[in-house]
Amino acid sequence: MNLKKWVAAATFVFTLTSYADNIVPVSEETHSTAAALRDKAFKDDSAYEILKSLTTEVGARHPGTPGEKAAIEWGVNKLKALGFDKVYTEDVKMNGWLRGVETAEIILPSYQKMIITALGRSKSTPKKGLEAEIVHFKNYAALEQAPDGSLKGKIAFISNRMERFKNGAGYGPANIARSKGHEIAAQKGAEALLIRSIGTDDHRNPHTGATNVAMGYTEVPAVALSNPDADQLVRLLEYGHTPKIRLNIQTKDLGPIVTKNVIGEITGSERPDEVVVIGGHLDSWDLGTGAVDDGAGVAIAMATASLIKSNTDKNPRRTIRVILWGAEELGLIGARAYAKAREEDGSIANHIIGSESDFGAGPVYGLQSSNNISPNALHVVDTMASLMGELGVTRRPGNTSGGPDMIPLAALGVPAINLMQNGTDYFDLHHTPDDTFDKVNPENMRQNVAAWTVFTFMAAQWPGSFK
Ligand SMILES: [Zn+2]
Repeated sequence: MNLKKWVAAATFVFTLTSYADNIVPVSEETHSTAAALRDKAFKDDSAYEILKSLTTEVGARHPGTPGEKAAIEWGVNKLKALGFDKVYTEDVKMNGWLRGVETAEIILPSYQKMIITALGRSKSTPKKGLEAEIVHFKNYAALEQAPDGSLKGKIAFISNRMERFKNGAGYGPANIARSKGHEIAAQKGAEALLIRSIGTDDHRNPHTGATNVAMGYTEVPAVALSNPDADQLVRLLEYGHTPKIRLNIQTKDLGPIVTKNVIGEITGSERPDEVVVIGGHLDSWDLGTGAVDDGAGVAIAMATASLIKSNTDKNPRRTIRVILWGAEELGLIGARAYAKAREEDGSIANHIIGSESDFGAGPVYGLQSSNNISPNALHVVDTMASLMGELGVTRRPGNTSGGPDMIPLAALGVPAINLMQNGTDYFDLHHTPDDTFDKVNPENMRQNVAAWTVFTFMAAQWPGSFK
């Protein structure tokens, strides 16, 4: 071997050794405990029972309503009853908004009632409603193309349908009409905005949802039509009619209110300051009882931590912090406040890894990790995926923020994983009156908790760094 080859070989061996030095293996014990937890969780109905209680004994949980107040109390009491070591709440200031009257009718060319709902923070129509012809746009981009001021005295109607995908990929492209359509409609001079619901069903249920307004009101009244009603308008247009609509929306700006993040912890036995964050959002839209969005996530996270706690006398090394996020639907309000406070007090550095369950109650099929996870921790995520293999979960490529309420934490560099759920039917129910407990399959809830116990336990117990 010449010198050059020797140096190359020695460098290679040295690199391998130092790489191996940084890799903290998953111990036999951690591996077998995670497998046992998974098997135990798969036979345990506690998440289903927690969800039943939340959706039945509390119901809808929209910020600023008695339902939200009851949910916060429910969360505190339930976390205590489940044996969490520490239970507390954190106040979050926000602006409240409530829906009131919402009716719509086609008055020409024939009289027909329509099923509609106001979008979040929609402004009211005049007290007696308004009457106007609709102008049809095939999508948001088409509305953008209309000349400014060209819709004076008209209602802008956007009719494109959200596409159905297992991973919900149709949501983002369709959603812009809901979030920003009101601004463009106002710019074009329209009296109001009417959109086809952002949903994949064919039921006569409208889908509500947030607009991009943080406080106050949308620029014009902004309303979603049920899918069959949107189809009806499109057919009338195809017959060559110009439908005239009567619309009455009355909503209320509640001004400043306080919501809360509800937090329960399983205190770490060796590194209590290091935190693994899991959770779901406690608030829901007001139309249904928030079973799939996001009572399921709340229940999965609570059951996961509680199962880990009750499994042995000794808690995992790190603290498991279950956060029932407040006011997600109106713009991740609780999550933003939480992240801002941790950035300011520096405790963001102790957030080791996190994830939120907020994509319904379908089974988990994939495990993704964020790009910022240390290469030396990827083998742990791979081990989690292999332990979840029996549940039908496989390791998936792609970056993730770990769920909506994790976005502010991910933006501050907290590593995240995503337990990808089958959301093929999620947008049939999402934000509708049909989001109710009966839609949830108990076996899928068990499967979710089984996967979540593997992730949560290993993240809290494996002593290496994810950063
Ligand atoms: Zn949600």
